[in-house]
Amino acid sequence: MQALMIPLFLVLLLPLHVSASDSVYETFVQCLSNQTNQPEQVSNIVYSQTNPSYTTVLRAYIRNSRFNTSTTPKPTIIVTPTQESHVQATVICTKNIGIQLKIRSGGHDYEGISYISDVPFIILDMFNLRSITINLQEQTAWIESGATLGELYYRIWEKSKVLGFPASVCPTVGIGGHISGGGYGNMLRKHGLSVDHVLDAKLVDVNGKILDKESMGEDLFWAIRGGGGASFGVILSYKIKLILVPETVSVFRIERTLDEEENVTDIVYKWQQVAPTTDDNLWMRMLIQPVSSIVNKGEKTIIVSILTMFLGNAEELVALLHKDFPELGLKKEGVMEMSWIESVVWWANYDNGTSPSVLLDRNPDTANFLKRKSDYVQTPISKDGLEWLWKRMIELGKTGLVFNPYGGKMNEIPASATAFPHRAGNLFKIQYFVNWDEEGIELEKNYTAQIRRLYSYMTPFVSKNPRSAFFNYRDLDIGINNNDKNSYEEGEVYGVKYFNDNFHRLVKVKTAVDPHNFFRNEQSIPTNPNDRLSVFKADFYKHSNQVADYLLVSSSLADCWSPLRRDQIVVVDIYPIFLSLEKLMGGLMYLLLVWDLQLRRMNFWS
Ligand SMILES: Cc1cc2nc3c(=O)[nH]c(=O)nc-3n(C[C@H](O)[C@H](O)[C@H](O)COP(=O)(O)OP(=O)(O)OC[C@H]3O[C@@H](n4cnc5c(N)ncnc54)[C@H](O)[C@@H]3O)c2cc1C
Repeated sequence: MQALMIPLFLVLLLPLHVSASDSVYETFVQCLSNQTNQPEQVSNIVYSQTNPSYTTVLRAYIRNSRFNTSTTPKPTIIVTPTQESHVQATVICTKNIGIQLKIRSGGHDYEGISYISDVPFIILDMFNLRSITINLQEQTAWIESGATLGELYYRIWEKSKVLGFPASVCPTVGIGGHISGGGYGNMLRKHGLSVDHVLDAKLVDVNGKILDKESMGEDLFWAIRGGGGASFGVILSYKIKLILVPETVSVFRIERTLDEEENVTDIVYKWQQVAPTTDDNLWMRMLIQPVSSIVNKGEKTIIVSILTMFLGNAEELVALLHKDFPELGLKKEGVMEMSWIESVVWWANYDNGTSPSVLLDRNPDTANFLKRKSDYVQTPISKDGLEWLWKRMIELGKTGLVFNPYGGKMNEIPASATAFPHRAGNLFKIQYFVNWDEEGIELEKNYTAQIRRLYSYMTPFVSKNPRSAFFNYRDLDIGINNNDKNSYEEGEVYGVKYFNDNFHRLVKVKTAVDPHNFFRNEQSIPTNPNDRLSVFKADFYKHSNQVADYLLVSSSLADCWSPLRRDQIVVVDIYPIFLSLEKLMGGLMYLLLVWDLQLRRMNFWS
């Protein structure tokens, strides 16, 4: 059958008729069946709360046990697409029934915002869309957003022993959230962030259309490299450029305890000078934690651990650290040489000799109860400051800090190159962490209060105006958006912390691509309420899609037509023609004014 063409100026308000008695589930499934080519598949990908598999599917990708309790709000429906068209249909149908959509890939969001909400919601769970296609010749890969980093690393290694990718050290993290949020890993100083290697992307926009780099345009492509995906659309896949890794890399872990050794504060102080400035091939993460003292029974002390990734062999590493960091006293016996994939397994805390196939395990352990926060440090913390900090951490008792060094490649990339803004000028990023293993309101209150107190103690040592934060270390303490009339003001509070000066460009992009704020969550990018043109343009799309939906329904009811499918209705964007006409009219007016002026000069009118 010939496709039906619907120009956008057909602004007929003909919404789908939904009787009040229809359940959300039935309406949604009906809509999904209308929107997809194989309606018989719909029941396999949609889970209502009464489906026996609902709880298993929901829990499979909950990575923070705080949000896996009986009181945690649960989604009305979970959709698990197996084809891109299912994602398109889910966006359209969720919009039609006016319910909130949450998008989940690996479920590692620290505040669980990919799978919880205070209002009724649907989860679009991407775990079935996880293919990885490696092109060895180009040294590139297309990865679907439901894949994990472990799967990516493993598939690269299967094809080549000298290619890799610079992203998270945690293999179960999902591509969708990690890359869109500006994910980093232990090759950051040499190769920058994951987003610095993104070549292309596929995204389903608010109209259910699939866009790639070219069709989404420069601004949106910029936004989904560090600005988070969930404010702009559903990321289907990213195309990445792989990096070269040496055949041998080296790792070590050194631990020093405050009450056993004298120079622990000196080491931490020196680390701040060395770790962000040394050879780019070296990345030294430092963990600082209160632990029970072995020397003074019943008391607490501080343990400092340095974990290192070096893109070279042990001899080079030892020589480098003898020169740059002699206080560590590193010996060759303390260093392990291995292949890059073995280092991935080592960083993921598996025993030496564990097969890399462990990286394919998507659910290797049970999740903890946890809370995270973040900060950036731009000037070294003095030795007095560090000693004061040890006392505070011992008093608090459980919250630890991870110092992740910057410098190297991060200094070379301008802050505006991608939406991720924290580049030159940062010595290191801090992750605050507290984990516990038992459910309980009091426990949660106690531990979250503790981490917040440590964060407040750190105020004099960290970035100011704004006090910056890392978007992928989601922290709802720094601001929440209720997505109502004050959405812009609320969004600005956390937005400038996560994105610094890039926040305002993100708002511009958001307003242009999703002016009615369909893709929203507790910390999404808000729209700019004063940008009316974008809202007007979006309404064109909305109404034309309503016309399309109406035709679908009426064709399925009418006896005289054979029912239409959604892909047989083409919505033609004539908005650019309007724009051109507008420009033409403007040009004509200008010419008339110029002629008028000339004629006046010639006293033609008198
Ligand atoms: C154990 C652990 C270790 C970590 N280690 C690191 C690390 O080394 N480096 C680092 O940078 N970060 C790290 N993180 C943080 C992690 O990168 C972020 O939480 C990231 O957002 C997780 O992505 P996800 O897909 O697994 O999470 P999800 O919870 O599925 O998603 C996170 C956010 O992204 C959105 N989103 C997910 N998929 C899509 C999609 N397809 N389209 C649009 N939006 C989407 C969600 O809606 C949500 O807002 C770690 C987190 C954990 C829990």
